[in-house]
Amino acid sequence: MFDLGKIIRPNIKNLIPYSSARDEYTGSEGVFLDANENAYGSPLDSNYNRYPDPMQMELKRKLGEIKGLLPENIFLGNGSDEAIDLLYRAVCEPGKDNVILCPPTYGMYEVAANINDVEVRKVGLTPESFQLDCVKIRENIDKNTRLIFICCPNNPTGNGVKWTDVKSLLEKFNGLVVVDEAYINFASYRSLVPELLNYPNLVILQTLSKAWGLAGLRLGMAFAGSPVIAVLNKIKAPYNVNIATQQLALSALNKVREVNDWIRCIVTERKKMEEALPHFPFVEKVFPSEANFLLVRMKDAKAVYRFLIGAGIVVRDRSTILLCEGCLRITIGTSKENEQLISTLKQYS
Ligand SMILES: *Cc1c(COP(=O)(O)O)cnc(C)c1O
Repeated sequence: MFDLGKIIRPNIKNLIPYSSARDEYTGSEGVFLDANENAYGSPLDSNYNRYPDPMQMELKRKLGEIKGLLPENIFLGNGSDEAIDLLYRAVCEPGKDNVILCPPTYGMYEVAANINDVEVRKVGLTPESFQLDCVKIRENIDKNTRLIFICCPNNPTGNGVKWTDVKSLLEKFNGLVVVDEAYINFASYRSLVPELLNYPNLVILQTLSKAWGLAGLRLGMAFAGSPVIAVLNKIKAPYNVNIATQQLALSALNKVREVNDWIRCIVTERKKMEEALPHFPFVEKVFPSEANFLLVRMKDAKAVYRFLIGAGIVVRDRSTILLCEGCLRITIGTSKENEQLISTLKQYS
């Protein structure tokens, strides 16, 4: 049975969190002489002289309406990278506990483990189809395994993993299963958000950095049962999401329809590229994608990469990564950019 109390680090369980001025007095009216702010204003067109809402309630309510969640099920951070780091800090005892990662996958899971001195147990995805190897994952779980990270759709392979596999881990594992849905908006299948009701050990990561077009604002989200979210809130920096980000994200969230139009456009472009790329003799395989990028195996990836750089087109060289040998990861751009890529590749021989 999953018991959050059993996996939280004792120092975190016993922690008395920092109590900020905006935690201690939450009203919005009054003469605020409690936080040593500059009461005159900011040397800008807008004022940012007041500290932001530490719990980002207005933004969480709005997001909650869109996602079908309560604010108590939402953590907001400085990118989803902040949530990844806080998950390690909440449940992984440095030098003692371990986590399971399934490469090839997003690099930050391993970097955050290393920063926190947490042992990484790598269980590779299955070759070519990039699915979870549940038997091996289970063999690697021991009493100190705290987290399993699953990226779905996966970066850099682009595919989704089978829900039945994720489900079997959720049911048999007593730590947290973190499903990173950074690319869910581009997928043909649905988010696991409704499953939060069934699995207290499920954590879902999403972000405004990809489909929402707000990578520069840094707003990441973690969705989970309220006990898990309460732990993340307890250990986060007091004012981890700034006022500009909170305000701009709120305005952006009023534009669901526009963003959905974009997503449809990007998916259409992805399909066009999926059809066009295999025609080149130097392209060996275009892997199926549920995301806004394609993993493409080339006969000579490094040479293609260099040729594209020479033409001013930058893709990601993933050719030295295990199971991605010879592959480039190509983000879907605007239709003009994609045409430029195709016409440049026509000149390569
Ligand atoms: C891009 C990406 C993120 C986004 O991270 P942010 O810190 O929110 O910008 C998270 N997970 C994966 C798998 C990604 O590819």
